[in-house]
Amino acid sequence: MKQQFDVIIVGARVAGSSLAILLGRMGKRVLLLDKASFPSDTLSTHHLSNVHYLEQLGVLDEVEASGLRKIKRMRTYIGDSFVEGPRHSYTLIPRRDLLDHVLLQKATSFPDVELREGYQAVGLLKDEGRVTGVEAVDEKGDRHQLRSALVIGADGRNSQIAKWAEAEVYGEHSAVRPVFYGYYHHVRPLIEPTTEIFLNEGRIGFLFPMEPGMDCLGLEILPDEFQEFAKNPHLFEKTFKQFYGMKERLDGAVLQGKIIGTTGVPNFFRQTGGRGWALVGDAGHSKDPSTGLGINDALMQAFQLVDAIQSWEEGTDWEEALQAFQKRRDEKLGPGYRLTLDYIQTRRAWTNNEQALFQAMAANPMVWNKVVPHLPGLLKEHSKGIPELYGSAEHEAVNFGFQYS
Ligand SMILES: Cc1cc2nc3c(=O)[nH]c(=O)nc-3n(C[C@H](O)[C@H](O)[C@H](O)COP(=O)(O)OP(=O)(O)OC[C@H]3O[C@@H](n4cnc5c(N)ncnc54)[C@H](O)[C@@H]3O)c2cc1C
Repeated sequence: MKQQFDVIIVGARVAGSSLAILLGRMGKRVLLLDKASFPSDTLSTHHLSNVHYLEQLGVLDEVEASGLRKIKRMRTYIGDSFVEGPRHSYTLIPRRDLLDHVLLQKATSFPDVELREGYQAVGLLKDEGRVTGVEAVDEKGDRHQLRSALVIGADGRNSQIAKWAEAEVYGEHSAVRPVFYGYYHHVRPLIEPTTEIFLNEGRIGFLFPMEPGMDCLGLEILPDEFQEFAKNPHLFEKTFKQFYGMKERLDGAVLQGKIIGTTGVPNFFRQTGGRGWALVGDAGHSKDPSTGLGINDALMQAFQLVDAIQSWEEGTDWEEALQAFQKRRDEKLGPGYRLTLDYIQTRRAWTNNEQALFQAMAANPMVWNKVVPHLPGLLKEHSKGIPELYGSAEHEAVNFGFQYS
């Protein structure tokens, strides 16, 4: 069995397998190892809005062929009212056992990309401080010393590669919101597939349409509610039924499997790498899933890291290539990170008056006639602490014909 590679990637899900596809295209000898075996699920919902990464990786058709609905609308509820609009491009909600597997199959279709499942990395090999490989244990308990010019940690937010390499952590914020989610058959659908977000009592509910007749429902709750929800899974459905229209729409719906939960997801950036190693995906950057960006971010980082590897091959010093990668990554992910932190910390429970007034306004076209021209200014005014919010609205508006003056 081969023990020498150009690149060893620890972790074979979205970050690791997409990187392997890109390295496979470059003709690199790649070893992907994962302690899990595939296809398998992982703790994650799977709202995926930037499908162009899948297209660039050559797997979009296969992911879509599984029968997923293309979601072109977004609806946000406040109490019994909502705002809804089209999205510029469509969103998919592919389960991770499907998405990760399709990416992996594509990666291993390259002759020099090898996958070893049931292989757990247990340490880094080093030579004079430089990482030169990993030590791994297979399912039988046999140890293997695997060597490569580069070791990539694509091993998720609790990355051991980052720990062993002593990667610096910055921009840290502890987990804020517990998350619970489950899969439901036969939720009464809207006319068009729509991502639905419920902002209610400081909680965030979400409904993601998957294939026809199957939806992923999720709840981000308040930190002190975790124990109660973990002990009483029926609270999930009970809470969901309090959202507008959901009592009727869940009538006859059937939970598939269990309600799954976590106390929350930590928020941080890690340095992108060092001598002989680099991080990609959640290993390098993790944040609360309420904004549904983690998978996109992992895919995007794979493209950025491969650019760094290419530039290194063309003669750029590795440290310099890594610094450029880190700068580009942080510039791209920083705004979404700050928006996510702001969003999850708000925990806004609407007052009765706010809710009643919003409902009255929502039902009155004369109000909208007056209010809409002032909305951009109001948003700008109230985004002073977090300018990315106005910036992101403006950025998205370009897709709908907005022109900068
Ligand atoms: C509750 C929840 C909901 C989420 N919802 C969304 C959403 O709707 N949309 C979205 O975009 N993102 C969402 N995310 C975030 C998303 O799941 C992550 O951003 C994404 O999984 C990151 O992919 P990754 O490949 O970097 O890491 P992971 O998916 O964590 O994969 C890491 C892999 O590394 C392997 N591994 C770890 N250690 C070792 C080792 N020592 N040896 C060998 N293998 C190892 C693991 O077995 C695993 O397969 C959610 C996350 C959570 C927790």
